[in-house]
Amino acid sequence: MARKLIAGNWKMNLLRPEGTALARDLALRLARTVDPAFDLLICPPATIIAPIADAVQGSGLLVGGQDCHSAQDGAHTGDISARMLADLGCSHVIVGHSERRQDHGEIDLVVAEKAAAAQAEGLVAIICVGETEAERNDGRALQVCSRQIAGSLPQGATAENTVIAYEPVWAIGTGRTPTTADVAEVHAHIRAALGARVPSEAAGIRILYGGSVKPGNAAELLAVPNVDGALVGGASLKADDFWAIAEASVG
Ligand code: PEP
Repeated sequence: MARKLIAGNWKMNLLRPEGTALARDLALRLARTVDPAFDLLICPPATIIAPIADAVQGSGLLVGGQDCHSAQDGAHTGDISARMLADLGCSHVIVGHSERRQDHGEIDLVVAEKAAAAQAEGLVAIICVGETEAERNDGRALQVCSRQIAGSLPQGATAENTVIAYEPVWAIGTGRTPTTADVAEVHAHIRAALGARVPSEAAGIRILYGGSVKPGNAAELLAVPNVDGALVGGASLKADDFWAIAEASVG
C-alpha cells in the first residue's frame, strides 16, 4: 500500500497573508524531514491557490482545490474548472464533499462528472462519501457509502487518479468520531464496493478517514485497517496540529 495521504481542507478560511504563511510553514517542515513517510496535501480556498502554489513550489507539499466544475471552460459564472486548477499547479481536487452535496445539491452523477473532469486534466480526484446521522441511526451507513461509491466513481478510476474520503457527515466539525471498529467496518465495506466497480484497482485506491481528526485521535484512527490517510478540516488550519496528525500517520 502507498504512503498515507494527509490532506487539509481549509474550506472558506484564510486570506492571502496567513494562508501563505501557513503553507510556507508546512513546506519548511516537509523540507526539513528526511524522506517523509507520508504525502502532505493542502486544499486552500481558490482565491489563494496561486500564491500558495508559487510559494511552496519544489517543497514536496502538494496543493489541491476544494471543488471543480465538470466542464473544461465556458459559461459557468463563478465556477472553476479542473483545467484551471491544474494550470495553477494543483495535483488534487476534492469532489463531492458533504458541504457541496448539502449546500449546492450535488448528486452522485454530478460528483462523478467532476471527478472524471479532474482525472482528464491529470488531477487526482478525492471523492467524498459518508452517511448522515439519521442514516447511521437507521443502520444504513454501509448502504449509503456503497451507493455513493457506485454513483460517484467515474469510468476509468484508477489507484493513481482516485482517492476516496469516508467522512461521516455527523462527525465533520463536531468533535465526534465513530469508534475505530465502525471506521474499520465502513472502510472494509468501501474497499469491497471499489472491488465490485474496479476490481484490478481497488486494493491500491487510498481510502481516507475524515471527520474531527485531531492530534489526539489521529494515531488510533490512522492505524485502523484500510485507513490510508486522513482528510482534515479544522485541525489543518494550524501548522502544529496538522503536522502532528501527519507524524501520527507514521505510527
Ligand atoms: C472536512 O470537512 O473535510 C472535515 C474533515 O472537517 P473537520 O476535520 O473539521 O471535521
